[in-house]
Amino acid sequence: MDQTAVMRYDVAAVVITTICIASLILRRKMSGPINRIYLATTIVILLTAFASLGAEVYDRALGPATIAPASGAISYPLVMRNAISMLYYTMRSLTAPLYFVLITAITYTSHRLKRGKVVMFLMWAPVVITTLLVLTNPLHHLVFFYDATGSHRGPLILVLYASSLYYSLVGMAWLLRWRRILTYDTFATLALLYPIVCTSAIIQYFIPKMRLEMFVTSVVLMLLSDFVMRPERQFDALADAASLQAYREMCERAFITDKPMCLVYTEIVSIERLRELVGKDGMQTIVRTVSINLHSMLAPGDVLYYLRNGLFCIAPHNIDANRALSIARTAHEQKRALSPAHIEHPVEHPDDLELRTCVIRVPEDVHDLSTLRNFVRRFSHLVPTSSVTSFAELSKMEDFELQMSLSDVVTNAIRKRTFEVFYQPIYCMADGRFHSAEALVRLNDPQFGYVSPALFIPEAEYNGAIQQIGSILLDKIFAFMGGMDYDTTGFHYVEVNLSADQCVRAHTAQELLDLAQRYNVAPPRINLEITETSSTYSHQAIARNVRTLAEAGFSFSLDDYGTGYSSLTRALDLPFSLVKFDKTLADGIDDPATRTVVEQSIAMMHSIGKHVLVEGVETREQVELLRAMGADYIQGFYFARPMPQDEFVAFLHEHNGY
Ligand code: C2E
Ligand code: MG
Ligand code: MG
Repeated sequence: MDQTAVMRYDVAAVVITTICIASLILRRKMSGPINRIYLATTIVILLTAFASLGAEVYDRALGPATIAPASGAISYPLVMRNAISMLYYTMRSLTAPLYFVLITAITYTSHRLKRGKVVMFLMWAPVVITTLLVLTNPLHHLVFFYDATGSHRGPLILVLYASSLYYSLVGMAWLLRWRRILTYDTFATLALLYPIVCTSAIIQYFIPKMRLEMFVTSVVLMLLSDFVMRPERQFDALADAASLQAYREMCERAFITDKPMCLVYTEIVSIERLRELVGKDGMQTIVRTVSINLHSMLAPGDVLYYLRNGLFCIAPHNIDANRALSIARTAHEQKRALSPAHIEHPVEHPDDLELRTCVIRVPEDVHDLSTLRNFVRRFSHLVPTSSVTSFAELSKMEDFELQMSLSDVVTNAIRKRTFEVFYQPIYCMADGRFHSAEALVRLNDPQFGYVSPALFIPEAEYNGAIQQIGSILLDKIFAFMGGMDYDTTGFHYVEVNLSADQCVRAHTAQELLDLAQRYNVAPPRINLEITETSSTYSHQAIARNVRTLAEAGFSFSLDDYGTGYSSLTRALDLPFSLVKFDKTLADGIDDPATRTVVEQSIAMMHSIGKHVLVEGVETREQVELLRAMGADYIQGFYFARPMPQDEFVAFLHEHNGY
């Protein structure tokens, strides 16, 4: 083969690897273990190709006879030529182990190499032996030697080949073992390198002048750069942090490969509410500011992820629980730094931001991915805002297990239809009787007993089960009302809670009309409760349902008045006949300021033609105060707790005295 053509392979390898390195530098992809090992591998291949090319140029320029005169004297050109060969063989024997290390980094399994002395020995011994052999070659000349006829390989060159073969086999086995972690593209590219490079190495072994190996390796490396380093999906531009996708992949890999972790989660409290206060841009500024603050706490190798709605996760590069805790504390403290005065483009919001911060150790606290997911999903419900906490601490909480099992509890209850409806009598101030009651759902779980709707309704709303639950309950309530003897009980109507989802769903109106017909219940017997907050959902959709139902004779109450963050004016343009004051108002009635607010609010509601019901009344004093203020109805433990259907009917007979 023409010598110039042979050299072109090496020149091409040098050019390609230089481009790879330049691209890494230009794209500023120098951080993180994968990028660093990729860079190291590329530099090693560049040096190998460079040494190979250098040897060829040197030989041609001086000629073997000049470099190694037949006299056998040690000359400067010979020392130089040996140095070039030494560089070539050292670098070449590093390629396979480095490529193996790159595979462990890409599969995020590097931690598995640090397990025990035997693994460390098996990992490093061959490369140490080959490097020593090459470096001591001037003493034994058994790896390569140079004489008047040119460069030759010694018998120990086989050790170098054996070492490369060893790392290639281990690398291949490793790839196969962890292929689940990789996308098909990445796996195929990584795996492809072995047969291609092996074939070129074999060709080069038998035809040493055919310098294919470096060229082929550099081409595959370039392909790899394309497949492995795809940053777009991995980055959340809004938060300037690694993305949810990257977080998911990181967690999946960690559990598949048993990688221990110590994760710090921190969440901006009530982000939805903040968004209403400061707008979308203000919200982005806050998220970014938190992100910048969190970034400033990171050490090299730590990664910051932005998961969703104000929730961040820091994955420190080591698993030191104390360090994680100290990161968590600093993260939690930044709420002070986030007061409006400290924000880059100040946004007006009333308080310092509140954060929830929690540390989770894997596998000590959490053994499987689904538990971690479940916890993160219920983060806002489980983690307090007061101080930094840990999963271990939280798991000691009384209802922690229930909280973590809510999704299953709800699913089981739907499957077995174990929902019950309780009725809480409502006291009418005008005649001291109970003409109405609120229907309240109860879930009786075989393991956890009665579960509060305040717990499982939000969960059901989240996972979509609320639709089925709503229908099951409506059916039970209409069946009950259809069979009720109104004459002997003095009962007039039932209050039924509509979930936000039911309020906006198009077929809710039809469902209620059908039920009224099927169970022969006159629509005025049903009063539908809508919460103030659900009116922010889709006012139009709610208004459409309400109009249809109001025309058919159903009436409406505004529930939980005094809580929630939506505008009262919006809620007020719906035809509510009753406004239900939340328990917090009844609770605060001892306070003169609250008392004035309640009194004025009652008067205001009356002035626009609404009746007022006060919820959560527990004492006689409250009843008397509310009577003096003109409240129309009282619902509370003072008169009666929610009770099962039969008990409720008995209650009516006893108290209404018909
Ligand atoms: P809500 O509609 O405001 O219901 C009133 C809640 O206050 C009930 O809690 C009731 O048991 C409780 N309560 C009444 N009087 C007192 C009192 O004197 N002291 C105290 N401490 N509590 C009192 P419950 O049954 O736990 O329901 C909580 C929330 O769950 C309800 O608040 C409602 O938003 C939701 N919910 C309950 N049943 C249903 C339902 O069938 N469908 C829907 N969508 N939501 C429901
Ligand atoms: Mg209610
Ligand atoms: Mg209420």
